[in-house]
Amino acid sequence: GPVDVECEVLVLGGGPGGYSAAFRSADLGLKTVIVERYATLGGVCLNVGCIPSKALLHVAAVMDEVAHLGDLGVEFGAPSVNIDKLRAHKEKVIGKLTGGLGAMAKMRKVPTMRGLGQFLDAHHLRVEETSGTAQEKTGSAKVVKFQYAIIAAGSQAVRLPFFPQDERIVDSTGALALKAVPKKMLIVGGGIIGLEMGTVYSTLGARLDVVEMMDGLMQGADRDLVKVWQKMNAKRFDNILLKTKTVGAEATPEGIKVQFEGLDGTKSEGVYDLVLQAVGRTPNGKKLGAEAAGVVVGERGFIPVDVQMRTNVPNIFAIGDIVGQPMLAHKAVHEAHVAAEVIAGTLKGDASLAKAQFDARVIPSVAYTDPEVAWVGLTEDQAKAQGIKVKKGLFPWTASGRAIANGRDEGFTKLLFDDSPEAHGHGRILGGGIVGTHAGDMIGEIALAIEMGADAVDIGKTIHPHPTLGESIGMAAEVAHGSCTDLP
Ligand code: FAD
Repeated sequence: GPVDVECEVLVLGGGPGGYSAAFRSADLGLKTVIVERYATLGGVCLNVGCIPSKALLHVAAVMDEVAHLGDLGVEFGAPSVNIDKLRAHKEKVIGKLTGGLGAMAKMRKVPTMRGLGQFLDAHHLRVEETSGTAQEKTGSAKVVKFQYAIIAAGSQAVRLPFFPQDERIVDSTGALALKAVPKKMLIVGGGIIGLEMGTVYSTLGARLDVVEMMDGLMQGADRDLVKVWQKMNAKRFDNILLKTKTVGAEATPEGIKVQFEGLDGTKSEGVYDLVLQAVGRTPNGKKLGAEAAGVVVGERGFIPVDVQMRTNVPNIFAIGDIVGQPMLAHKAVHEAHVAAEVIAGTLKGDASLAKAQFDARVIPSVAYTDPEVAWVGLTEDQAKAQGIKVKKGLFPWTASGRAIANGRDEGFTKLLFDDSPEAHGHGRILGGGIVGTHAGDMIGEIALAIEMGADAVDIGKTIHPHPTLGESIGMAAEVAHGSCTDLP
């Protein structure tokens, strides 16, 4: 058939994976095109994920901080929230970033084709033009011929089938739209996304219930970290339902009536003004016509790839949420660079670029709650489950001058070092966790230490500035090494 556009690299999806792949590919001299169904670049992360949630969480954290200043002798009046203005602020933040991406694409001469992409075969993609925020199809379509494709089509929120269609039942995108502050809100799913949104709404005035199937909130993080967050946040919740399934819901004039069933059989019910479904995300793999290109898509919609981010079809790569867990923007970006480099290396005959691999040892996780909870690498729970002997260095922030000065000494920093016999008492760092304000900003240092194979002496002897929260990482290493004599 006729071809409208030709390129060396086609990138399907304009999220953190997609734009990073396209920019790297263009920087390496390849003719690159992005196909994106929405009007702006940035994907879930910039438009309805990482960034808007953090814009709102920042405001919530400042409000909570100010509320607590009364104890320190400074009183403010009760906050009055203008939700329209707050929403406008969030939109402005998004606009700044997506606008910046648009400018960067232009600067690199990477065109974005607005439309819904579907593979025709392993070298052609059909793009049905879309318009408006609702992605209506305009009826016009184009065919792109490509040498290589990078699939970066991301994921979407899982919808529980028994929830009725009702504007009081939302996913994270609906919650971020911030239409109004409910009196009573239910969060279905006690993971990071649900708890971050819950933090925002509760600071704005909502009472929270959370329901979670597992036996604890924020799965994946060590319980000692989560416990600190939970103690500080207990006042936000009326009910924390653990080991409990949400089994039914009906829309009534009084609210959304939701039925729960504990794993032990206990039944209960609640009525809510807003229900947030935050039970996970599902990859978009089955919606791309991938089979026409011969690309294998797994049963759950993930696209299997090798360490070079290559699918089973040699000229088609995939990156980001669509290739698997963890579904995080920073993972997508690094995978993107690998895919673009392998393609550029192959096309330009640059053997060292063509050898690029995704070989990160660890990928950090952060809950941007208040306090923040951050962890990377091996957790204590995993060490226990896998029978890995670790030496722990834990530094409580009650001994941190800066945390005390900030009036926020509830946190701690924990490092885990290899304590197997082969390590001879000089084991490398395997993991770490931090709970406390700014934990997310500090976890990168622990990730670096793991990537560099640092041991407790390396970290403990690295001079950290005083007085900072980051100092706690050096102190935790000294605790593990047994040389922590004086505390700041
Ligand atoms: P996406 O960002 O999902 O982008 C995929 C793009 O492809 C979309 O723009 C989509 O419109 C487009 N697309 C899909 N199919 C087609 C098609 N057929 N044709 C054309 N275009 C198509 N991660 C973090 O690291 N830190 C955080 O703090 C964080 N907070 C989050 C908060 C929320 C509320 C949510 C929902 C997610 C959060 N995430 C966070 C996760 C993060 O947003 C994702 O990991 C990241 O966006 C994945 O990037 P991606 O490029 O793989 O896909």
